[in-house]
Amino acid sequence: MKPKLISVVIPAFNEQDNLPVLIQQLTVALKRIGLYEIIIVNDGSTDETEHVAETLHHLDQNVHFISFTRNFGHQYALKAGLDVAKGDCVISMDADLQHPVSLIPTMICEWENGNDIVYTIRQETKNESFFKKFSSRLFYRFFNFLTGLKLPAGSADFRLLDRKVVDKIKDLPERMLFLRGMISWIGFTQKGLVYTPDKRLNGQSSYTFGKMLSLAATGAVSFSLKPLRIVIYLGLFVAFLGCLFTAYVLYMRLFNGSVISGWSSLMGVVLILGGVQLFVMGVIGEYIGMIFMETKHRPQYIVSKTTLKIKD
Ligand code: UDP
Ligand code: MG
Repeated sequence: MKPKLISVVIPAFNEQDNLPVLIQQLTVALKRIGLYEIIIVNDGSTDETEHVAETLHHLDQNVHFISFTRNFGHQYALKAGLDVAKGDCVISMDADLQHPVSLIPTMICEWENGNDIVYTIRQETKNESFFKKFSSRLFYRFFNFLTGLKLPAGSADFRLLDRKVVDKIKDLPERMLFLRGMISWIGFTQKGLVYTPDKRLNGQSSYTFGKMLSLAATGAVSFSLKPLRIVIYLGLFVAFLGCLFTAYVLYMRLFNGSVISGWSSLMGVVLILGGVQLFVMGVIGEYIGMIFMETKHRPQYIVSKTTLKIKD
């Protein structure tokens, strides 16, 4: 039987100090298991990440890198890795050593037992801020409610995918990516493993609040039409309130003989209605924006330099 090749994809944005440590740990672990290739995806780093990746390639020919022309984002770096990986299975993990290398043998074992996708769930630790825990829990609740999928809270982009899953993901035509959702949606036999994240070794998290919010919006809008349905209900509810209010005004006029006066109440109603309308238009706008982005058919990323052969 042909020995199996394991690919490891590592998105890296300003990770010059973490990469050598991670690659060292990884090669020790992977050499014990069998054939391997490691693909570092340098997502437009402004530090020496590319130079470090190049040196690592010279030291071990199984280590490769792809550099983007600019920062395209974590999801696109992951996708680039999936696009070029040749392995029978592909493992993706962060470059900052938060995803423990020690879990990889268990992941491979689960894969060999017939699981096509081995995903991981991050156990909450004291290291994380209250805000990160809270926003993450809220997001998964909200996402599952909207999409009907069952993403566990703490889902991470640390996972193993079988070759057939990778090929299916490469076939999905959409450009705006929310890989966690796509992998939950795609089915196959899946197995979850819980892990405790380590502290980031060097540097700072680059997932700012803005980036998290944007990922959450892409996730919600690209996976469900429920937000549109919710705003229909919202519109109906507000119209219903309007009817009640009108009935009350008529009643007062006809049977009480008085006209309700008041600039304040009118302003209140106008402002609330204006706000609701803007909100609804915003939701519709998100969908139109998504259609606009998808119809441009732009590539998901542009490569400036690589040690791999890439067909465009
Ligand atoms: N990353 C990336 N592009 C970006 C931001 C992050 O490739 O624009 C990489 C980063 O180098 C790391 C992983 O994605 O390997 C996770 O990022 P980070 O540790 O900043 O996020 P957190 O763990 O705090 O969610
Ligand atoms: Mg991290």
